[in-house]
Amino acid sequence: PARLRVAPSPTGDPHVGTAYMSLFNLAYARATGGQFVLRIEDTDRARYVASSEQQIFDTLHWLGLDWDEGPDLGGPYAPYRQSERLDTYRPFVDKLIADGHAYYCWCSTDRLAELRAEQQASKASVTGYDRLCVGKTREERAALPGFSETPVVRMLVPEDVELTFTDLIRGEVNAPVPDDQVILKADGFPTYHLAVVVDDHLMGITHVVRGEEWISSTPKHLLLYKWLGLTPPAFAHMPLLRNTDKSKISKRKNPAARLTWFAEQGYLPEALRNFLQLLAYPPVHEGTDVASFGEFVAAFDWAKVNTTGPIFDLTKLGALNADYIRALDADELADRIISYALANGQLTDPSDTQLSLLRAAVPLIQERLVLLSEAVPKLAYLFAADDELVIDADALARAGDNASAVVAATSQALAELGEWNHEAIQAALREALVDGLDLKPKFAFGPVRLGITGSNVSPPLFESMELLGRESCLARLDRLAG
Ligand code: ATP
Ligand code: GLU
Repeated sequence: PARLRVAPSPTGDPHVGTAYMSLFNLAYARATGGQFVLRIEDTDRARYVASSEQQIFDTLHWLGLDWDEGPDLGGPYAPYRQSERLDTYRPFVDKLIADGHAYYCWCSTDRLAELRAEQQASKASVTGYDRLCVGKTREERAALPGFSETPVVRMLVPEDVELTFTDLIRGEVNAPVPDDQVILKADGFPTYHLAVVVDDHLMGITHVVRGEEWISSTPKHLLLYKWLGLTPPAFAHMPLLRNTDKSKISKRKNPAARLTWFAEQGYLPEALRNFLQLLAYPPVHEGTDVASFGEFVAAFDWAKVNTTGPIFDLTKLGALNADYIRALDADELADRIISYALANGQLTDPSDTQLSLLRAAVPLIQERLVLLSEAVPKLAYLFAADDELVIDADALARAGDNASAVVAATSQALAELGEWNHEAIQAALREALVDGLDLKPKFAFGPVRLGITGSNVSPPLFESMELLGRESCLARLDRLAG
């Protein structure tokens, strides 16, 4: 059984990439009967956002992605928050220093900035830290300019560092020559590079599955494993999600990079989960994009994971969302619509009558609904008070000369109708308008639709009339007549 983890940094709204990485990590953990760990990488104090951790838990749970160990659940390798593990990292740093693989560096941030600027200006072929501190004691270094009281610790990356490694998805991969990476910061916090290696080792992680932007870091991590005498895990670098122009999606540019955006828009979590899977994996079944998480797990194979950046196509997500909405039981869909509408201010304090009306109307819109957010606006005409229904002015102007005759005939037919259901309503109106007034159905029912729903485009008319009831229909038609 494999042990995998996702290791998000709590730096703000969770990134959709975190869900995407979690999905693939979790799928492989389940495929092998192993475990999936959630670790919070909060060593970057400058970017730390306190509310972010809970949002990560909530959004992953919303998507149906569950972990076996984590800061909220505990587990055999607790704590699962790096800020609570600072004592754990120090002995590893000391060993690296003692063995000559790492060194203190007292260079001030000003000096490092100057060095970078000089290298850029002279287009130097060798860039990165110039090793001024290597082999110096604190006293020796303090005598030179650009000294800082609080040192960092850097890796002494050898010239013959191994730059090639085997990736589960990509096969043999080549990474660029690394700089003398800082592993312990002046504030005593480890950097990501040290903490990730120590924790993956101590937590028994067998497979590291992460974004392709970490390929260039993997040789550094492999060096640390080697120096510390540890067995490295297997690595898989997932392709990053891209815009249609191939740029990577990012929270700064794309609202859809924020995981909370999808719930706000009214996507179903199971549709988003399925979509994230399809971004880097072929459809599990022939002829349909739809597959459950269990089916994805059963089919999981690293060889099938794409290496090129998938296009994050929201049109495709919309189509998938509509498929999932159609497949829901109407009652279940109504529950989802109601919770969405309550959480997003589309419904405030609805009465029981309004809620039953909404439930009864859901089947009318289910076939063509793309997002949960569309439901209440589409059905708003049902909830409006009869004398407050907004009637589309353009459509009213275009309603034609027959409108008042149609409305009068309709009102009379409805008033006389015995049974009140959509079949009876339809039959009666057909008789009164198509036969009685000799109108084509399009001209016959247009004014009725406008009076009842306020618009030329609406969910099915006769079913809507059945739900509204006779009194309400007559009151609405009356307004059109006046
Ligand atoms: P921005 O995306 O604007 O840079 P950010 O700086 O908050 O916002 P990162 O901190 O770089 O984003 O990434 C957060 C997590 O999301 C990381 O685990 C990263 O691998 C993942 N990630 C970022 N961009 C993408 C992407 N385009 N596709 C998939 N995963 C991504
Ligand atoms: N904290 C890193 C991130 O958010 C983890 C990268 C990794 O999985 O190693 O991207």
